[in-house]
Amino acid sequence: MRRTVDHHRVVIVGAGVVGLCTALNCARRGMSVTIVERNAAQRDGCSFGNAGMVVPSHFIPLAAPGMVKQGLKWMFNPESPFYIRPRFDWDLLKWGFRFTRAATESRARAAATVLRDLGLLSLREYESLGIETGLHRDGLLMLCRHQQTLDEEAEVAEAAHALGIPAEVLDADATKRRDPTITMDVAGSVYFPLDGHLSPSRLMTTLATELARLKATFRYDSAVTGFAIEGSRLRAVQTSTGDVPGDQFVICSGIWSSPMAYQLGLKLPMQAGKGYSLTLSEPRQLPTLCSICTEARLAVTPIGGQLRFAGTMELSGTDESISASRVRGIVKSVGDYFPEFRPDDFDGVRPWSGLRPVSPDGLPYIGRPNRWDNLFVATGHAMMGVSLAPATAKIVADLLAGQPSPIPSPLLSPDRYRW
Ligand SMILES: Cc1cc2nc3c(=O)[nH]c(=O)nc-3n(C[C@H](O)[C@H](O)[C@H](O)COP(=O)(O)OP(=O)(O)OC[C@H]3O[C@@H](n4cnc5c(N)ncnc54)[C@H](O)[C@@H]3O)c2cc1C
Repeated sequence: MRRTVDHHRVVIVGAGVVGLCTALNCARRGMSVTIVERNAAQRDGCSFGNAGMVVPSHFIPLAAPGMVKQGLKWMFNPESPFYIRPRFDWDLLKWGFRFTRAATESRARAAATVLRDLGLLSLREYESLGIETGLHRDGLLMLCRHQQTLDEEAEVAEAAHALGIPAEVLDADATKRRDPTITMDVAGSVYFPLDGHLSPSRLMTTLATELARLKATFRYDSAVTGFAIEGSRLRAVQTSTGDVPGDQFVICSGIWSSPMAYQLGLKLPMQAGKGYSLTLSEPRQLPTLCSICTEARLAVTPIGGQLRFAGTMELSGTDESISASRVRGIVKSVGDYFPEFRPDDFDGVRPWSGLRPVSPDGLPYIGRPNRWDNLFVATGHAMMGVSLAPATAKIVADLLAGQPSPIPSPLLSPDRYRW
């Protein structure tokens, strides 16, 4: 008997924001969904303590011209927002080589169109998730302390216009008028009205609750260790708590997707980009809008009555330990942009760290690898997982249902790296 798509048993590996959004999209289409997660329910991983920004304005990939030079400069400052722990690691060397090759004008331009499409699709998908996401769609300020940075950001605003993303360049006074709730020491900003912010942990809880309501199965505390295979199809994922059979499988395991996919002969090169966040529960001032302190690469998000500061991109393997000097760098930057805040505001605040799955070309891997008939991959979103999860979910669920991808770009292909 021919099985209809609606009766497919979909097994999703990883309960981060990408996994849960994908699970929800599949469950809404009537598919039977099982989510396999090695940790306990709602553990504080990368999808929980991040800055919660939903930013179609972020169409410039991490691998952009000038980033290699800027990265090398930052390497020698222990408080800088970027760091690569020097080590002899073949994967890191290959990743760096690919990053450098991707950081050209023409490749960044091609990637920008795809990121723009993903960002705009995600905004639409956020509206139709059918849950209370808590997304505040009131815009983002890219704050610039120096006129030179503002001039550079004004060029980004122009590029945004060209891609159909509205942006407004504001001087210092206009920036203060845009968000008078917080004192800022800036030369100006670029305002992106389409952007927004939400509480990531609340989103994660709401997604899990809705999935439970739709009768999705959660297999927590179950680490995937291998796969049962038949020809070019997967039959089951093998886990620490037994096999989980399915008709279709989706790897959404963040930075851990690379070694998992490797077992299936796939190359998904990624480095873990460790970042930190510090959340003040009673901030001196609470902005209305989220912002990015451009020179410091620091994200600032009001989350309920709390204020979260998030930043740093540290490529030091999958070690999740906290670097005191990077945290100091974040605290120092806060006072540079928001003079009412003082370093001792952060006394007793526990820093959070998370590992972003960072591909070398700044684009996620979304799609079905050629080698497998019933395996899909959705990972590599780096600093954009919350932003792009609903679009990713839509693409994967469409493909699973036998429909074409709404963004059929080869730049997203999980087969794009062969060695
Ligand atoms: C400081 C910081 C700030 C950020 N700010 C933003 C922001 O403002 N906006 C934005 O869009 N993004 C932001 N990000 C990025 C965002 O957090 C990530 O892109 C996103 O969380 C990645 O989600 P994921 O589902 O791919 O991976 P994860 O959240 O890492 O989830 C993967 C899951 O797979 C599970 N898993 C791994 N291996 C196995 C296995 N063998 N078996 C079973 N399960 C397994 C893991 O336990 C994990 O739960 C930020 C990140 C950081 C660190």
